[in-house]
Amino acid sequence: MSKACDVLIVGAGIAGLTLALELHAAGITCQVYEAAPELKPLGVGINVLPHAVCVLDRLGLRDRLAAVAVTTKESAYFNHHGQLIYREPAGVAAGYAWPQFSIHRGDLHEVLLQAVRERLGTDAVVTDRRCTDARNEGDLASTRFVDSAGAPHDVTASVVVACDGIHSALRKQFYPDEGAPRYSGNNMWRGAVKWAPFLSGATMVRAGWFTVGKMVIYPIRDAVDADGNQLVNWVAEIARPQPARRDWTGRGRVEDVLPTFADWRFDWLDVAGLIESTTEILEYPMVDQDPLPRWTFDRLTLLGDAAHPMVPRGSNGAGQAILDASFIAEQFKQRGVGPEALVAYEQVRLKATSDVVLMNRKAPPDKILQVVHERTNGARFERIEDVVGKDELADIVNQYKAVAGYALDQLNVAR
Ligand SMILES: Cc1cc2nc3c(=O)[nH]c(=O)nc-3n(C[C@H](O)[C@H](O)[C@H](O)COP(=O)(O)OP(=O)(O)OC[C@H]3O[C@@H](n4cnc5c(N)ncnc54)[C@H](O)[C@@H]3O)c2cc1C
Repeated sequence: MSKACDVLIVGAGIAGLTLALELHAAGITCQVYEAAPELKPLGVGINVLPHAVCVLDRLGLRDRLAAVAVTTKESAYFNHHGQLIYREPAGVAAGYAWPQFSIHRGDLHEVLLQAVRERLGTDAVVTDRRCTDARNEGDLASTRFVDSAGAPHDVTASVVVACDGIHSALRKQFYPDEGAPRYSGNNMWRGAVKWAPFLSGATMVRAGWFTVGKMVIYPIRDAVDADGNQLVNWVAEIARPQPARRDWTGRGRVEDVLPTFADWRFDWLDVAGLIESTTEILEYPMVDQDPLPRWTFDRLTLLGDAAHPMVPRGSNGAGQAILDASFIAEQFKQRGVGPEALVAYEQVRLKATSDVVLMNRKAPPDKILQVVHERTNGARFERIEDVVGKDELADIVNQYKAVAGYALDQLNVAR
């Protein structure tokens, strides 16, 4: 059996493409196999925080990302009456050596894909190959793919890294009895719409609370027309007993979302107007999975969402996938491409990301909203200082940053 490359990457998403770039930089051969027949710029907004931008900067992508993203200046928290609870600077404005980017997932994906094609060649990503299973065969790992006509294709490499996202085929192979995804009790609707800059023009807003309607809003593209409008991303999150379908093509309806936010017309942003003006809405349940006991099975391993899907309450899904990619490439450099490197990768990244998965459930940054909502019983406040001190709010965010690996002092010193 002859091998195609050192590392076979399953899935050309954010994790798979970042890993391909990291491996190329390390002089390790790889190929990426992707199920979609064509790679399209899908999704809506994503935040890439300084720890992940640090990795992308080392890969030489910082300027390309800055050209298409919004460089986030601050993070702000409001209650559902539109009253300001807390704000703090973000990225470079907060003293980090790297910015925070608020970006369309399609733009992030496109920057990565272009870099892969330029550096590894146009045939580095093979599309229309859906992975069905993989197995260890002596000194090699063999993977079966099926194309859209149903034809099988077997590919062999030294190791296989499954970056095939939240529906990972290899995760199912390793854990056939894993239950259905764990629904958080909150459904999400996402949209993006042209809108005039609001607040600083680069503010990430979190507002409300799940039980009365919560919103995450931030611009993801600057100057999208001659009037200087931005593309503004919004995510409505509402407590619902039943989850929606779990894929990125589920279409939502304005009438499912608008009633909850109908009176959200604040002096800093007309949230209801934003929703009313959105033509395409995606619906997606807020789900994750319990952390796994292991990812690595000899020459096969999991990475990114395949390994640790998390509820999107801390802007860390893409970031942790990028950190995984960087870390595993470093292990291959140090230990060679084989099982030892995969074990070393798992030893560090499984614990680190499990902590983020659990923290996202219990105490992500939006816990600030919960604290204020519960202490005020959802009513307006006179002075926020009478409800909660600034230090208590800063502690919530800082504890999250430490667990997720982007506390200011850790990151600026460590890199
Ligand atoms: C179409 C799409 C849109 C998204 N939109 C958003 C968004 O708007 N906001 C947000 O926060 N997150 C979004 N996400 C999720 C986000 O990209 C991830 O949470 C995060 O970036 C981690 O990346 P990942 O590479 O691990 O997974 P993903 O980015 O999900 O990438 C997984 C890749 O593997 C491919 N794949 C899946 N199964 C197989 C298989 N059996 N064989 C081969 N390839 C396979 C998928 O087609 C995909 O390209 C989206 C994901 C997808 C796939």
